[in-house]
Amino acid sequence: MSVQRRPLIAGNWKMNGLRETAIPLVGELATKMNTAAPTSFDMLVCPPATMIDAVVDVAYETDLAVGGQDCHMAESGAHTGDISAQMLKDLGCSYVIVGHSERRTDHGEMDDVVRAKAEAAQAAGLIAVVCVGETEAERDKGITIDVVAAQIAGSVPPDSNAGNVVVAYEPVWAIGTGRTPTSDEIQDVHAMMRGKILELLGADEAASIHLLYGGSVKPSNAVELMGLADVDGALVGGASLSHDDFWAIAEACS
Ligand code: PEP
Repeated sequence: MSVQRRPLIAGNWKMNGLRETAIPLVGELATKMNTAAPTSFDMLVCPPATMIDAVVDVAYETDLAVGGQDCHMAESGAHTGDISAQMLKDLGCSYVIVGHSERRTDHGEMDDVVRAKAEAAQAAGLIAVVCVGETEAERDKGITIDVVAAQIAGSVPPDSNAGNVVVAYEPVWAIGTGRTPTSDEIQDVHAMMRGKILELLGADEAASIHLLYGGSVKPSNAVELMGLADVDGALVGGASLSHDDFWAIAEACS
């Protein structure tokens, strides 16, 4: 972890959370943030769209940021069931995840779509959390570095900077499985990602853009993973549904 890049711990609640569970969960995190302020990390929660308004209300006047899990690439229009980046901004979001592997798989989203969504997010004043990561088959073929480099080139908008993009490396086979790459493997991929960003966006952006690791991050592995030189925080799925576990992961960055 670098002193220059303040750690970011992001929770992706996925399609989980009704009022009964989501409001107490964010309430606990808001209380912890206020009690611990000033923290040595930034914290973000990305609830399902149905809960964003209520979560923003609870997080109001705390340092807890709220984000969406996806947005459409258009500002508005005939896209039944979709949500625009502007709508997320209007609700009080400051981030949005784009290109999560579950969107890439379930909805066939390719790099060009992910980049268009990231551009829409940036145009709306949101920080796009662009997800990349290899499948297990790609890992087995030994092409992880090539796959992730190509996803960065294809998904990260050319006008990106530390104020409007975060890149999350999430090996698909590590999401929700309890398995992770070794620390050396994660650091190697992150170092390559930083090199790729340098090539695409320049040295200032390479030094300042946050690179998160995601995939089975838990309190028990967070200290080791968050201590890696080019890991600037975590994108957490399952463990972000427990305020104690999510908080313990954040404290691993202290
Ligand atoms: C995720 O969905 O982004 C994720 C990393 O999930 P988990 O932490 O459950 O592996």
